[in-house]
Amino acid sequence: MDFIRPTTWTDALGAKAAQPDAVPILGGTDLMVGFNFGEAPPPTLLDLTAVPELSQWHRDDGTIHLGAGVTYSQIIDELGEECPGLAIASRTVGSPQIRNRATVAGNLGTASPAGDAHPPLLATGAVVEAASVRGTRLIDINDFFLGVKRNALAPDELIRSVRIPARPGPQQFAKVGTRNAMVIAVCTVAVALDPSARTVGTGIGSAAPTPRRAPEAEALAADLPWDGGEVDPDLARRFGDAVAAAAAPIDDVRGTAAYRTHALSVLGRRALQWTWSELRGAR
Ligand SMILES: Cc1cc2nc3c(=O)[nH]c(=O)nc-3n(C[C@H](O)[C@H](O)[C@H](O)COP(=O)(O)OP(=O)(O)OC[C@H]3O[C@@H](n4cnc5c(N)ncnc54)[C@H](O)[C@@H]3O)c2cc1C
Repeated sequence: MDFIRPTTWTDALGAKAAQPDAVPILGGTDLMVGFNFGEAPPPTLLDLTAVPELSQWHRDDGTIHLGAGVTYSQIIDELGEECPGLAIASRTVGSPQIRNRATVAGNLGTASPAGDAHPPLLATGAVVEAASVRGTRLIDINDFFLGVKRNALAPDELIRSVRIPARPGPQQFAKVGTRNAMVIAVCTVAVALDPSARTVGTGIGSAAPTPRRAPEAEALAADLPWDGGEVDPDLARRFGDAVAAAAAPIDDVRGTAAYRTHALSVLGRRALQWTWSELRGAR
């Protein structure tokens, strides 16, 4: 196996263009597991960890540009205010060792239906910045996941950053697992409120072939008391039920489809109530 370690983004794109079958590696927390379990190694690994710009984030107007190499630990330490939903999700990923290495771009590269970064990205309307020697392409997160572990990247493209709207309002992420830590999700729900636009964004994980939104739950934003007041319990329950209705869960070793449907409705209802309480407290 060849190993390429570019130190500039231009060189990284050039290497990927010259060898589209070269496999990019950041934290390696998905890739190395595969190799250790006997997956055939690729002809070439393209190590992106020596490209300094990738491990940085910056704010441009209302958007956070999250470099592909930014780790979950960085998000937890530095972006709790700007991207609270993603920061909560990041705290649930693996262990401290994993969070110190693993990245959102790697989560997107793998595109697992259970990837914990995906629901908050869907709920906030993030955009993936993909690049190649041909230029830059901005991929709406809604168009990124194509199937189980399949994404919209072309063979010569690399993820450079993820653009996330900086916190327009309270956000939550809730995860059910078979234990409290180091666990692949049984199911997850993310909710993001935008009080100015009077919208509710959603994302669900481990509940369908791809992470997805719950449009019927989002449509209930029109019934929320944006001018003040509690969420009616019946509305919160309908919201949870609409979250669950968006799923297409399966039975697997982590849980049954019926349990996932039930858990999604509970998590959806609670995530709405938690974000709404925070919104009321901030007024
Ligand atoms: C013990 C353990 C616990 C874990 N727990 C969780 C968990 O709780 N939740 C969760 O979601 N995941 C979990 N994971 C999986 C993994 O940590 C995450 O998916 C992580 O986000 C992967 O990031 P990485 O940087 O390590 O990716 P890598 O392993 O480096 O890469 C993953 C994929 O992305 C591709 N890729 C990497 N960089 C780019 C780029 N710039 N452009 C295009 N493609 C790219 C790679 O080629 C590869 O296909 C766990 C893994 C382990 C080993």
